[in-house]
Amino acid sequence: MNARLVFLGTGAAIPIYRGLPCLALKVDSTIYLIDVGEGCQHRLFKMGLSPLKVRTIFITHGHGDHFLGLFGLIQTMNLLERKSVLNIVAPEPLSTLIGRAIESMMGRVGFEVKVNASRIGEAYKDEYVEVTPYPVCHTIEAHGYLIKLASKTISYTGDTAPCETVREYSRKASILVHEATFTSEYASEAWKQGHSTARDAALTASEAGVELLVLTHLSSRYKDDHVLLADAYRFFKRTITARDYMTLIL
Ligand SMILES: [Zn+2]
Ligand SMILES: [Zn+2]
Repeated sequence: MNARLVFLGTGAAIPIYRGLPCLALKVDSTIYLIDVGEGCQHRLFKMGLSPLKVRTIFITHGHGDHFLGLFGLIQTMNLLERKSVLNIVAPEPLSTLIGRAIESMMGRVGFEVKVNASRIGEAYKDEYVEVTPYPVCHTIEAHGYLIKLASKTISYTGDTAPCETVREYSRKASILVHEATFTSEYASEAWKQGHSTARDAALTASEAGVELLVLTHLSSRYKDDHVLLADAYRFFKRTITARDYMTLIL
């Protein structure tokens, strides 16, 4: 099995230096997306990934930077004459909103879109992946996703303040993709907004005993991400900062 993670958008809410959150997992020729910030389909093309190969989209929560690219992506799939079913998994009430928008706002979509509410502990399974939603600590209902492949486990937090459930679900994961919106200098601001610092992510990675920590969802206040890496590195050495279009071979 050939698997890779492609970071298509690694910024937080304002896309100045980095794209909005979007992560692709490609297993053989099948693609899964986790979060779909605006412009996601353009970034897929840039990396030679076809929107027609996207089987399932997992969305962490209903803040615009994480899902507003969905409708443009569906429109592009429609123009490409997609015929295969597209699955979307998102927490309530976002899943209901997406279902209604697809029915009423987008006119005819020439393929079936199955929208499923993501429920804690209920896994999505197919022949390649098992994806389990877990609760995180954000300002609205938000789910992280634990993705199990045959040989690796990837935990993706989405937006979260430091959170016990992230530690629990990410235990011994091969890769923890953790949000790190700010450096620890802005810890109180981060926590107030339901976000983590790079130091928080590193402490969680260390306590969970993961193999690799990838920092993402970096604020546009950091043109240079080395400050975030330095903030985390003191507490967890096996840390890298994600960059747009970075690819990890699994
Ligand atoms: Zn966000
Ligand atoms: Zn958010």
